[in-house]
Amino acid sequence: MTYKFLTILLVEDELTVRHELKRFLQRYCKEVVTASNGEEGLETFKTFLPDVVISDIKMPKMNGIDMAKKIKEYVPEQTIIFTTAHSDNRYFLEAIEMQVDGYILKPVDLELLKKKIMHIHKEIEVQKERRLYERILNDIAQMQDTMLAVYDKKKVPIFFNQKLLSFLGFDSLSDFLEQYNTLGEKFEKKEECYYPRNNETIWLEAMNHLDTKHHIVAMKESDTQTLSFFQVALSELTQHEHIVVTFSEITSIVEEKRQHQHNAYTDELTQIDNRAKFNSVFEATIERSQNVQNDLSIVIMDIDNFKQINDKYGHMVGDNTLKKITILVLRQTRSTDLFFRWGGEEFILILENTSIQSAKKIAENLRRVIEKYDFGINKQLTCSFGVSARVHQDTSESLFNRADKALYKAKKHGRNRVEVEE
Ligand code: GH3
Ligand code: MG
Ligand code: MG
Repeated sequence: MTYKFLTILLVEDELTVRHELKRFLQRYCKEVVTASNGEEGLETFKTFLPDVVISDIKMPKMNGIDMAKKIKEYVPEQTIIFTTAHSDNRYFLEAIEMQVDGYILKPVDLELLKKKIMHIHKEIEVQKERRLYERILNDIAQMQDTMLAVYDKKKVPIFFNQKLLSFLGFDSLSDFLEQYNTLGEKFEKKEECYYPRNNETIWLEAMNHLDTKHHIVAMKESDTQTLSFFQVALSELTQHEHIVVTFSEITSIVEEKRQHQHNAYTDELTQIDNRAKFNSVFEATIERSQNVQNDLSIVIMDIDNFKQINDKYGHMVGDNTLKKITILVLRQTRSTDLFFRWGGEEFILILENTSIQSAKKIAENLRRVIEKYDFGINKQLTCSFGVSARVHQDTSESLFNRADKALYKAKKHGRNRVEVEE
């Protein structure tokens, strides 16, 4: 058997021993280079960088122990074997402390030497293979266009790829960990995004139990501070030694979805929330006010005889009037009031923390403001209002119906009025 890739530096001051060992080793190894003392051995080592150093201990100029120390400073994991005579006992302890890889007594038993070389060959082969895999894995991890983090089974981060590090604005994982306890600290609180509070264990486990559609996090890019959204994927927590987590950027998809949702919930003409939005928030608002026992009122508002505006001045003027009324109402409302275009010339206000008396006053104020406003048409424009407030056991339907009934009353009693249905 030959160890084709193995290279050896043989350091031995005795010429005959050197020649004999060299000849023997050459039969098995790829290359054997020799040196006749420690000093020469060290110099040769630096240029040759062999897989294994086999060295005598007692030598002129620099002994084997001193040479080995210097070599280990240079390459800490260097494989070194000493050949030593019984008389070299005083060096023996020192050699053990240096954690060299083996000793062969002199005169060298060639069969033993061969066995040792065979053993080392195997170890080096395994090491080389492991390093190769490490390099390949590292290349794959760095090549990824996705950001990637690896955690050990205790959920301690052990690797962030380059893409993730540069997004976070750090050169290395240890730099990052000096400033942050967990990657979770970088997550931003955004609608529909996962937002952890504490540590790595919590968010990794939480995500593992959540449906993948909730595996979305938002983070800010370190340089530009722009918000990006990521789909997070993680390997099974229980099956592997390591947990691999990837972050694939989905910012454009999230933004598109948001835009769609915005469009679906916004009235095109007035740019305020539409009926779909009203439907999506009304019940939740009622529930919230029930839970905290707060007042909740609604006001339905309908423009009086609006059809006449269209008929007399045309649809364009009608449209502009709707826009102007919207702006007028928005100016009068508080930031907590929700204002929707219900459809046509009908609008609705949800007033949280507002009693029926206050809601009536708000509606009355709006009525007056609209009545006085100059819409640029030769005609006074007015609105009718129906007000209701949440009572115990109200549903969205019953609450709405009462306001609608009140509005009907306002129309019936002559328009430009506020009516309340308790
Ligand atoms: P009332 O006082 O009983 O509410 O009378 P009204 O004329 O306001 O009510 P009606 O329901 O009979 O007519 C509503 C009109 O609103 C009819 C329709 O042409 C107009 N309208 C609805 N949506 C729009 C719109 O987007 N733009 C314009 N210009 N007009 C609209
Ligand atoms: Mg109407
Ligand atoms: Mg009307």
